[in-house]
Amino acid sequence: MATATKTKSMVAEELAAAELIDTHCHLDFPDYQADLEQVVKRAAQAGVRQMITVGIDLASSRKGVELAEQWPGVFATVGVHPHHVNEIGPDDYQALQELGRHPRVVAYGEIGLDYVKEYSPAPLQREHFAHQVAIARQLELPLVIHDREAHADTLAILREAGELPAGGVMHCFSGDAALAEEVLAMGFYVSIPGVVTFKSAATLWEAVRMVPLERLLLETDAPFLAPVPLRGKRNEPAYLAHIAAKVAELKGCAPAAVARQTTANARRLFNLR
Ligand SMILES: [Zn+2]
Ligand SMILES: [Zn+2]
Repeated sequence: MATATKTKSMVAEELAAAELIDTHCHLDFPDYQADLEQVVKRAAQAGVRQMITVGIDLASSRKGVELAEQWPGVFATVGVHPHHVNEIGPDDYQALQELGRHPRVVAYGEIGLDYVKEYSPAPLQREHFAHQVAIARQLELPLVIHDREAHADTLAILREAGELPAGGVMHCFSGDAALAEEVLAMGFYVSIPGVVTFKSAATLWEAVRMVPLERLLLETDAPFLAPVPLRGKRNEPAYLAHIAAKVAELKGCAPAAVARQTTANARRLFNLR
């Protein structure tokens, strides 16, 4: 049966029976303090068996690792988000480097550049980004890259770093098909957030159609960016199914096939078991 003729509940059922991985969420955020157990349970019911909680500074990275120790389906990353590089303490990178060797840590990030908010000055962001790419390389961890309105500088810093054998992902991809092509040429994955379900996302749709399914990852970036029909609400990993369904529609393939391939991709990049 063609995807277009399936009802929404049939698609949800198909995905719940499949296996999805939310490759980017922030479960350590206070938004989940009261009901994390329910959030993890709802994720499993919606087919999201594994999720990666992403660090934004030292404290958040530590909390993420604690959650990963506590929940079998949760893995963690460590790193300092560009918003927070101006708050970093003198020993924080040393601590992150040690934390990065924890067996439940599967990537380094999120790191990168954010020229939209510029909570930290752009030159400082670039300096810390380059420094953290070097740390990630030492740790032999894949990179989780945050890039908002900083495409050229982000790619320049990654290229200057030379070969990155562990690879990485451009998370919450916000570029067009041309940028996606450059990201693919660097050997990186492209991760698709809930924005893909928005009516205004035509540029992102084009990128999704262009990127081979073998190079796509799915993410909620929860608690931010809840997909349609939950837009505006607190996001959570269970809503990943809406993103998978939209990607399937754009790719013209079965939701279960999107789940299977993106899950295999995530396992490969992050060495998940
Ligand atoms: Zn981000
Ligand atoms: Zn994030």
